[in-house]
Amino acid sequence: MKGKASRSCPKSILTMEGTWDQEQATTMRDIFPEECGLAAAIHMQNASRYVYDCLMLQEHRGEDSVGIISLDEAAQFHIRRRVGRVREQFFDVVFDERLPGHAAIGHNRYATQGAADALTNIQPLFFQNTKYGAFAIAHNGTFLDRKGLRERLTQEGVVFQSSLDSEVFGHLIARSKAPTLEEAIVDATQDLTAAYALFVFTREKLIALRDPSGVRPMSMARLNGGFLVCSENYTFDQYPSCEPIGDIQPGEMVVFEHNANSFKRIQYAPPEENFCVFEGIYFSDPRSRYNNFYHEDFRFELGRQIFRENPGLVGDCIIPVLDSGKHAAWGLSEASGIPYREHFKRLHNPPRANLRSFTSSNEEERMRTAYQKLHLRKELILGKRVVIVDDSVVRSTTIRIINQRLREAGAAEIVNCISSPPIENICPYGMDFQDRQQLVAYERSIEDIRQKVGADRLIYLSLEGLQQVVQETYKCGICSGCFGGTYAASALEALSHHKRAE
Ligand code: 5GP
Ligand code: MG
Repeated sequence: MKGKASRSCPKSILTMEGTWDQEQATTMRDIFPEECGLAAAIHMQNASRYVYDCLMLQEHRGEDSVGIISLDEAAQFHIRRRVGRVREQFFDVVFDERLPGHAAIGHNRYATQGAADALTNIQPLFFQNTKYGAFAIAHNGTFLDRKGLRERLTQEGVVFQSSLDSEVFGHLIARSKAPTLEEAIVDATQDLTAAYALFVFTREKLIALRDPSGVRPMSMARLNGGFLVCSENYTFDQYPSCEPIGDIQPGEMVVFEHNANSFKRIQYAPPEENFCVFEGIYFSDPRSRYNNFYHEDFRFELGRQIFRENPGLVGDCIIPVLDSGKHAAWGLSEASGIPYREHFKRLHNPPRANLRSFTSSNEEERMRTAYQKLHLRKELILGKRVVIVDDSVVRSTTIRIINQRLREAGAAEIVNCISSPPIENICPYGMDFQDRQQLVAYERSIEDIRQKVGADRLIYLSLEGLQQVVQETYKCGICSGCFGGTYAASALEALSHHKRAE
């Protein structure tokens, strides 16, 4: 620990920015936080500044809300939680004054359903009085309360402050009879069906863990005599002297004591790796790595695999759906010899930039946003056989708009290549498609989908091809349930619960 820690009772244990009324002025609806971002800095001067830097780079994982909690030299916690984006909500913060201390954790939240603006649902969550002392929790993943624990705890008098599943987890820890916090955490994980990358942050330590399936990523690094732990390891590359240590393993818990410049790794559950392959296909930043393999190189290989599976592919140019289709398009272009051209330019500040085409609730709005995000050089399309590459098709909004525009611009032939298999199943761990009926590939043949999206030819990567590329790249077990493959064990359990609840 930098400086001297005081264990005497601080005057105010928690400084909260904003009033309690503001914190309460929320709608309490159920939400399912999903591919959120986590960042922690331990044993570092001005730790919250590093957490901020990393949250900035993880905003693609969630931009609905952001929170940071720091621990200062007097063992006092400081918290700032805001609805909105990191830069807008934290730009005026003088970190060593407002969020001072040698250790901090933070969270970017992506709310897939409702309550995106609920202040009480912003993480990190804080539990002030427990037998393990005060602790904060930040969580990326889903806890599924299959035993009805929230209801049972409520009946027993537990007062829930948020509608977050993570809060149930916190109360389970607080009520555990285990002698140590570490054991209490393990007990709590066993009570909830879960995919998680998780922080538990106390006055003494930071505990970082991944579920036994390793669905969500988390990595650690050394920096300035301390440590960083983040959902995405490309965040480490922004510091010249940062030395990556590696991924936290599935079923592994890493304990960082604030006053020791080291960490302890505990394999608390047998690993059964089912890394979410969609992190590699789409969700993670291309410059992050899993098992030391860059996601962008993985995506490039997916493009090459499409050509291996379709060696007769012809066309005048290969056009990516930017940004997410880019690397697969490069791979396909290199393998096929068809030139790569960015005839659709991705606009980063379109009029509806603050709306996400994917998450807007109505189709018309989604179509308009998808249209406005991409600028097309129409004259370059006239009379051309174009091959369009995107990473995935979910509802098919994006690809339908693209095909329509290519048609209007006079393309001679339109081939769509998708660098993942058809998404035919929901993911109990979120991924923002909770309703099978919304998936264009649900109960539709490839030919039906082709007609619906208006392509002359539609090519999906095969599930076997995807698995083969994974074996040659990440070399890990994956969860491919959404593609009709194998779900992580806990995801299967969650799904059966989902079905029973329907
Ligand atoms: P669609 O337009 O078919 O509904 O969705 C596919 C497009 O959205 C693809 O371009 C893909 O990159 C992107 N996408 C796929 N999955 C997700 C997700 O979970 N969230 C968001 N925001 N975009 C996604
Ligand atoms: Mg995309």
